[in-house]
Amino acid sequence: MYYYLIVHLSLERVMINLFNELKACTICPRKCGVNRLDGKLGYCRTDSNLTVSRAALHQWEEPVISGTNGSGTVFFSGCSLGCIYCQNHLISKAENGKKISVERLCKIFFELKEKGAHNINLVTPTHFALHIIKALELANKQGLKLPIVYNTSGYESADTLKMLEGLIDVYLPDFKYFSSDIAKEFSFAPDYPEIAKAAIAEMYRQTGKFSFSASGMIKKGLIVRHLVLPGYIEESKKVIKYLYDTFSDNIFISIMNQYTPMPAMKNHPQLHRKLTTFEYEKVIDYALSLGIENAFVQDKNTAKESFIPEFNCEGV
Ligand code: SF4
Repeated sequence: MYYYLIVHLSLERVMINLFNELKACTICPRKCGVNRLDGKLGYCRTDSNLTVSRAALHQWEEPVISGTNGSGTVFFSGCSLGCIYCQNHLISKAENGKKISVERLCKIFFELKEKGAHNINLVTPTHFALHIIKALELANKQGLKLPIVYNTSGYESADTLKMLEGLIDVYLPDFKYFSSDIAKEFSFAPDYPEIAKAAIAEMYRQTGKFSFSASGMIKKGLIVRHLVLPGYIEESKKVIKYLYDTFSDNIFISIMNQYTPMPAMKNHPQLHRKLTTFEYEKVIDYALSLGIENAFVQDKNTAKESFIPEFNCEGV
């Protein structure tokens, strides 16, 4: 009985802390200032209810994350970036998902571990960063030992990232755009390049150079993803050069060709088509010419809608 009361009071304190931060939300660089506790939706289209669309083993991450068993992915509903070509638009627009408690999220981590997950992979977590911090603190108290992967668009507040210090082992951010005008056109975020640079620097400050387990799975470090967009190979070259000039081979760069045009892009002048093999090879050749050794590349058949998981609340 006493034990129950102590746990109950401690969880209540957790929720009160969350409530205060969400009264005028500035968790991400959009800094909407809305009262999410009052049911107001921010740019991320979520209020204070922690909402998850899928929690399952996932095979299609980089091999050092997926391994043989799969990565324990938790897909959060909503998104604070909102790209026009989004590959996961069903969840980024928060059109599906299940509302769960912080304690349930913690339990999901352990369920994924039981299924054999190599790590816990938090996908599009930014707008629920505070809930995640509490869930990870609970999980740590209960002895969760898996590496925690923070899988993000790169549009992150450095202050929020600082709150995650010590809880995240592997950062897996995108670095999507080098040019402000392209970031504005495709993600309504002209400040994306500067924000992402600062965020990635903070991530690297926390993790340092990568390290691996004896079985070759990443334990700690930074993998920066860049999705090459059709018609934008010069932009991709600038992103890759910046990353290599800044971090050398202390990080991995994951150069992705999996852009899949969604139906909403059918009339877009550039984004209505897949990337060509020629375009992708140009970018890879450029990366090689810089001397980059730590990179992941994708094979030809990755740009398919069938690689986009079903967001049916499995495992939630
Ligand atoms: S997390 Fe959502 S509500 Fe908060 S600042 Fe970002 S977009 Fe706005």
